[in-house]
Amino acid sequence: MDLLSHFFLPLIVAYAVKLDQRVSDKQLFLLAFLGLLADLDVFFGVHRLGLHSPLLVPVCVLLPFFFIKDEARRTYLVLAAYFLYSHIILDFFNGGVPLLWPLSRISVDINFSFIVKLESGISLEKIALEVITKLPTTVEDKEFSLVKGPGIVTGLLYLFVISSKWQNNWKKRRKNKEGVY
Ligand SMILES: [Zn+2]
Repeated sequence: MDLLSHFFLPLIVAYAVKLDQRVSDKQLFLLAFLGLLADLDVFFGVHRLGLHSPLLVPVCVLLPFFFIKDEARRTYLVLAAYFLYSHIILDFFNGGVPLLWPLSRISVDINFSFIVKLESGISLEKIALEVITKLPTTVEDKEFSLVKGPGIVTGLLYLFVISSKWQNNWKKRRKNKEGVY
């Protein structure tokens, strides 16, 4: 999955479910960069290992939650955990993540197949849910696509969602102003 999808998909969901009203659009946009953090593991030589581990996120983000009493800071921690986990969940269905790292290096990938063949009619070729396990590979001589078509689509979708929201807010403000005079 490309970086743009990892950035915009969780951000769109956050807006759609109105994740937290106390956080502004700008703050939410900045927090979404945490959704890219996991892929920094390429700089450590092995892709999809430690930073893609679902066991590591609670230690780094949710553990401080119990020591911080301030509500606003707690909100940021929960949102940080949401964006960090979004990356792991998306990769779990798209290439796999090491579910039990640091206990195990084995990566688990959930693969859905629903393939039909078009000949004289439509015939079902394959329908399957597979669990694929593998060991992480080094990044040497590997190519990574940073931006792909689905990422551009999610980016455009985000622009649509945010511009609709701003337009609605502007209309509300105008209505309130007209109501005053
Ligand atoms: Zn990743």
